[in-house]
Amino acid sequence: MSDTIVRFDLPQSAIPTRWYNIQADLPRPLPAVLHPGTHQPVGPSDLAPLFPEALIMQEVSQERFIEIPEEVREIYKLWRPTPLLRARRLEKLLGTPAEIYYKYEGVSPSGSHKLNTAVPQAYYNKMAGIQGLTTETGAGQWGTALSIACGFFGLECIVYMVKVSYQQKPYRRAIIQSFGGKVTASPSDTTETGRRFLAEDPESTGSLGMAISEAVEVAATSGGKYKYALGSVLNHVLMHQTVIGQEALLQLRRAEAYPDVVIGCVGGGSNFAGIALPFVRNNLAHGYKTRIIAVEPAACPTLTRGKYVYDYGDTAGMAPLVKMHTLGATFVPAPFHAGGLRYHGMASVISELYDQGLIEAASVPQLECFGGALQFLRSEGIVPAPEPSHAIAMVIREALKAKEEGQKKVILFNLCGHGHFDMAAYDAFLQGKLSDYEYPQEAIDAAMAKVPQIG
Ligand SMILES: *Cc1c(COP(=O)(O)O)cnc(C)c1O
Repeated sequence: MSDTIVRFDLPQSAIPTRWYNIQADLPRPLPAVLHPGTHQPVGPSDLAPLFPEALIMQEVSQERFIEIPEEVREIYKLWRPTPLLRARRLEKLLGTPAEIYYKYEGVSPSGSHKLNTAVPQAYYNKMAGIQGLTTETGAGQWGTALSIACGFFGLECIVYMVKVSYQQKPYRRAIIQSFGGKVTASPSDTTETGRRFLAEDPESTGSLGMAISEAVEVAATSGGKYKYALGSVLNHVLMHQTVIGQEALLQLRRAEAYPDVVIGCVGGGSNFAGIALPFVRNNLAHGYKTRIIAVEPAACPTLTRGKYVYDYGDTAGMAPLVKMHTLGATFVPAPFHAGGLRYHGMASVISELYDQGLIEAASVPQLECFGGALQFLRSEGIVPAPEPSHAIAMVIREALKAKEEGQKKVILFNLCGHGHFDMAAYDAFLQGKLSDYEYPQEAIDAAMAKVPQIG
């Protein structure tokens, strides 16, 4: 391959026509999802107050491929196929014999991969005659994506934004509002659960788990007017993101390369799933031996230090019980952790792949992440969102290991969003105000003690 090519583009006709559903290929099926009250397996009718039928069917589908509606592909054309780039200048800086490729999802209108699922979710709700969607947002990426997607389909968008983000990220709030979304800081006094959280702690800075509880309550009590949308974790959300990895496979073919290592950051697991699952399939079905590494913050070590047990998806215990790697649904992240990826749990699919030994996991401290992000942005000219800086830190570790071992390996990672709305975090890093932080074992033990005992 020519060493001068750094960008591998595809024509619009190469936008995938179907999503890949890993459930068809899992050696062991996913554990059942349980009702939070009865602890019995939930059926489609239990989920009907929250999601339209088409998405419930995708959630439990065992079909390997699901066709992408033409209306959705039409909107994907606004930014897809996204570029695959080779980080030649970063390779040089590190002096590594490794080839480093990255898929760049920051070219989407919302600035991250989240729009890949926001668009189909809005589409299926519109088709079902729903008036609007409720949701939560932490860093603000998901709220932005859903607000854009709802706007495309003429749906209302009601966003519960974790209070600390609402206060610290006024421009994220403003962009969601510019696209027409209604934003409320969570916990709020607009819901019963929000009022309960506030009664317990009037100074609460909120968490994703609390915001989910509020958004779910609004949808569940709306008499069918609103449904709820989640930006990560669920099977159908992870499946929508597989357009990323499918495109990357085609682009790497153009680059005449195949990855020895695929790396992504994990919060709920969706961007990681998006790039990784098509490569997991090649490992499972075609005997490839690619290492697949999920990277999380040391401040929220769900896979590496959490337990694989049934837990609630939200803080109030209204969402179904899912068997997943968890730090406990009452987990509240440290406010001085700047790198995102703060969800207490992990997608069932990712938890199961990890438990079956089909993927690896690692945690990295935040100073290494921001340090790596600066090396990356100064070489490649793109400011990464703080979340994928975790992937970058791991890429740099792997590239330096390749240098030590004199090995020419191919590394692929997902640069799932840009960091233009996250300059406060970079500012804190540049001013030396960030420090490393390991989530304390006592806090994990305390939250895990409240996890329900199932089976
Ligand atoms: C939401 C988000 C994440 C974390 O969510 P996942 O579902 O784990 O991908 C990571 N990076 C960016 C840019 C995000 O917007």
